[in-house]
Formats: sequence, structure tokens, C-alpha cells
Amino acid sequence: MSYYSPSIEKLIESFERLPSIGNKTAARLAFHILNSSEEETNEFIQSIINAKKNLKYCSKCYNITDTDPCPICSNSKRDSSSICVVEDVRDVIAMEKTHEFKGVYHVLHGSISPMNGVGPDDIKIKELLARLMEGKVKEVILATNPRVEGEATAMYLSKLIKPLGVKVTRIAHGIPVGGDLEYTDEITLTKALEGRREI
Ligand SMILES: [Zn+2]
Repeated sequence: MSYYSPSIEKLIESFERLPSIGNKTAARLAFHILNSSEEETNEFIQSIINAKKNLKYCSKCYNITDTDPCPICSNSKRDSSSICVVEDVRDVIAMEKTHEFKGVYHVLHGSISPMNGVGPDDIKIKELLARLMEGKVKEVILATNPRVEGEATAMYLSKLIKPLGVKVTRIAHGIPVGGDLEYTDEITLTKALEGRREI
């Protein structure tokens, strides 16, 4: 039986549906809302409504954006001949934080995973090929995650793209900064060795 009133119970349930939120955190958030001012609560609700209403996918790179094309695709300073392919919108943010990449992106919205019933047609591969067919792209950097699905997706894309005469590269994976060779697993160490470069 529940000790809370139905309204609070409902609010806690809503928070619990969010990722990484357990029952205790959900209850804490629900009570935080109850103790907030009406103005704060309205602002919170409005930001959720606005995000759902205004956000859309960029018709070029499939990043989430308020404007189409997104600010990256419409920035003339970005090099549109270099496309970095990532699995998720959050990966774009991770790459942008490095300030190292000056090209544009393509968000696949997933990776090929036969185990989970995700095939090449279920992610934005056709859309990527359509961009390459325009003939302006010189390099595709495959920055899918170094997991089985990410590697399989990178291999699949590489086979499709190379015949188009576009240079295909894969980001190097290796030992994290601050890591220890002794404690690094064999796959990571092998990838680090493969991705070695002259210094
Ligand atoms: Zn875009």
C-alpha cells in the first residue's frame, strides 16, 4: 500500500520513468517540486513543453536542433568536406567539447545490432550515403563507439563508403589518460597498438 496521496504518487511514478531515477530519487524530486514556487514549477513545465515542441532533427546531419539546418551545418567556417559519423546526439556534444574537429557530423541514431533487431535500414545510413553521393565529401571519420555494435557498424560503413572514392578513417581507441598498461584489457591494448602514431 502507498503512504502517499494519489497526486504525489503519480508525480513520483512519472519521475521514476526517467533513466537512472530510482524510487528514492523520484520521491526526492517530487517533494522538491511540491516545495518549489509556482513560478519555478511553471518555468520547468514550460521548458519541457518547448523542448518537445521546438526540437527537431537537422535535415542534413540528424543532430537535434531548434533550427534546420542546425548551427553546425549552417556554419560556413565548418569544413563540410569532412563528416564525423557518430551513433548518438550526445556524441556530437562530446566531440564538440574537444574543440578539435572542424568538420560536420552525421548522427546515425544507433548502431547495427542484429541481437537487438537493429539492421542497417533502421539507422541513418541511407541518409549518409545520400550526402556522400553529392560528391563534395572527401573524408568520413567513423567515430562509432568501440563496442561490438559500434565496430560492426564502422566495418559495414567502411565497405559501403570506400568504393565511392571517399577516404574512410576510424578514430583511434586506446588506453584512457591516467590509465595503466598493466590493468588494460587485451582488446583495448590491441586497439591502442593498432592506432599508434609516430611521435
Ligand atoms: Zn546539422
